[in-house]
Amino acid sequence: MIDTLVEIAVFAPLNKTFTYQWPEWLGEPQPGMRVHVPFGRGRRLGVVWRTTVSPSETPIELKAVIDRVDARPLYDSRRMQWLERACRYYVAAPGECAETAFAWAGNEDKRRWHCTDTAALSLSDDELAQAFAHRGTLSAATLRKKLPASGFYHRLRQAVEAGHLTEALNESALRTSLVITAEPVPERLLPAQQQALDRISHTPGFSPFLLFGCTGSGKTEVYLRAARQRVDSGSQVLILVPEIGLTPQWLARLATRFEHIAVWHSGLSDTQRLQVRRDLPDVEVLVGTRSALFLPLPRCSMIVVDEEHDTSFKQQEGMHYHARDLAILLAQEMDIPIILGTATPSLESWRHAREGRYQLLELPERIAPHPAPAIETVDMRGVEAALSEPLLAALRETKAKGLQSLLYLNRRGYAPALMCTACGDVPECPSCSFRLTLHRRKKQLRCHGCGFVRHVPVACEHCGEDALLPLGEGTEKVEEQLAATLPDLRMARLDRDAIRNETRLMRVLGDFSSGKLDCLVGTQMLVKGHHFPNVTLVGVVNADLGLGLPDFRAGERWWQQITQVVGRTGRGSHPGRIIVQTRNPEAEWLSRIGGEQARDTLDIELSLRKTLDYPPFARWVRIIFSSTRSDSAIQAAERVAQACTAYLPESIQCMGPMPCAIERIATRYRFELVLREITRKHLPWCLMPLLSRMAVPTAVRMRVDVDPVDMM
Ligand code: ADP
Ligand code: ZN
Repeated sequence: MIDTLVEIAVFAPLNKTFTYQWPEWLGEPQPGMRVHVPFGRGRRLGVVWRTTVSPSETPIELKAVIDRVDARPLYDSRRMQWLERACRYYVAAPGECAETAFAWAGNEDKRRWHCTDTAALSLSDDELAQAFAHRGTLSAATLRKKLPASGFYHRLRQAVEAGHLTEALNESALRTSLVITAEPVPERLLPAQQQALDRISHTPGFSPFLLFGCTGSGKTEVYLRAARQRVDSGSQVLILVPEIGLTPQWLARLATRFEHIAVWHSGLSDTQRLQVRRDLPDVEVLVGTRSALFLPLPRCSMIVVDEEHDTSFKQQEGMHYHARDLAILLAQEMDIPIILGTATPSLESWRHAREGRYQLLELPERIAPHPAPAIETVDMRGVEAALSEPLLAALRETKAKGLQSLLYLNRRGYAPALMCTACGDVPECPSCSFRLTLHRRKKQLRCHGCGFVRHVPVACEHCGEDALLPLGEGTEKVEEQLAATLPDLRMARLDRDAIRNETRLMRVLGDFSSGKLDCLVGTQMLVKGHHFPNVTLVGVVNADLGLGLPDFRAGERWWQQITQVVGRTGRGSHPGRIIVQTRNPEAEWLSRIGGEQARDTLDIELSLRKTLDYPPFARWVRIIFSSTRSDSAIQAAERVAQACTAYLPESIQCMGPMPCAIERIATRYRFELVLREITRKHLPWCLMPLLSRMAVPTAVRMRVDVDPVDMM
């Protein structure tokens, strides 16, 4: 008899799959099923990656799969193929890729099962029925202790399939506290919206669209109508949004139009996850952050990526994937349309649109009845305070009219550094190359790189003088100055320190929407997608932040952020005002703020990238080596660099090793190699064969980042 062999992607960061025997009693193996396999001295979870194993790869002594976790594959063959392509493109370990992709399936041990009919169950599996004799509901983990480990899940599945067990969900944990105020649906589309919608509806099969229009030009309205059409014809729509903070806003708009909405983000409880998983077949619209991409909507016929330029679509751990790019790959694999929407396209998408690979759909006008306001800049040279007089006056005036303001500062805490004016010492993190941020309210110095926290010293620890001075400003300081100068202004702070959970976020956004607050002070949390019709003043507290970083995308990112912020004003029936504070009023980027200039800005930046042979015209791969010992990290980097130079095609240029811009994070020293290829023929596919043969010492962590969005 010939043994059935399978290739398993074992959940571990190892650059290959492993071959196992498949025992007959586990039924038919299919790619996309989770299994337990013996691994090292223990057992691990893995996924059947392939069921055909070429004989030459087969060693003689093979271990057997211990258990099969899923009754059916979690993915169909198209999605498995997509996952394999993703794995190859991102030079990811198959196990790591599978672990990322199937994280939504959750921990089977935590699921709880209820026996509906012990007598019936005992006919097919008496031992399992016995386990339920005393209590009708048990968690899988408890059950597992009562039964033989091998094949346990397989047994459980069979009992579930036969209808003897049903899942016990903790229904009370499902009730959400979210109060959703449904938004009205506009009656008629503007001509440009209608045109965009028609193009989307009439293009069959795989086709990427770039829906480009300034904030408030009605893009969301277009996606929602396109989604409605799809749902009416019986299929499902996936909407990816960059951040968790955006999902309540989306819910408000979806609630009026769809019956079955599911939300997915990292803040869900296990029970909520199970619920979504169970509901997938009935969902009309699934809205979620990047990981929602991996949920297998069975009848998905359209994908929307809202704010496609947003860097939070890029995963920075494990498999370094970009959700937008993987969404495009998925749409291609499934032969469905995909809409990328933004007011500030990424240069990648802009290039595709310019060269005709994406259909460009433009919404040239804002819905609001008046044009976008002009930018007023305030020169902050010589100004000590965080907020200038003109900005304070504007805040006062806005409040007097009963209207609202937003103050944007992309820096948490009170001040980004504390300096001793006597000796010049600035406390730094002991584990990172970062200065410590002062959080005055909590009396702490914190590292925003690794989370290190310490008390604020009373005097300088270097020279002993009582001369410590906060440098620069963060959101806490802005809040303090507002409280001192405009005590009547009802204001709240919106950043990761003030907003620890979704309930709190909803409360603050709700209070602001209903007019209980006059002003929000916040980081980029404030920027994203929110629509507040009564906001007529936007203040950019420090426009100089984020420019001049050693990252070629810094300008692009700064422009995107500021354009998004200023787009928050004047969206209702009142005209808006934008005040930008800067110490560098002549800076070229400042002149490019504002929706009208988006096209020119993008074209200028694109031609600059072309001249320099930078992405998107070249493909870059960044390989980061980190270790608590700097010499180990650099040695490993040097060896890989030598191999790259010796074995990779000549079209690939290998730069480095060099220290990363942030040289040390959480006690690990960091070095990088940057591989560049202008023709984009071989990168990144040629890397896996090379890297999987290189033994990097265990003390060194090697991370491959294909198409890096962060060069720090
Ligand atoms: P974007 O997604 O481009 O920021 P939205 O779709 O959120 O724009 O539209 C901004 C505001 O204008 C929303 O309140 C929306 O309900 C409203 N709106 C959109 N399209 C129309 C329309 N055709 N007629 C009237 N109001 C509209
Ligand atoms: Zn640190």
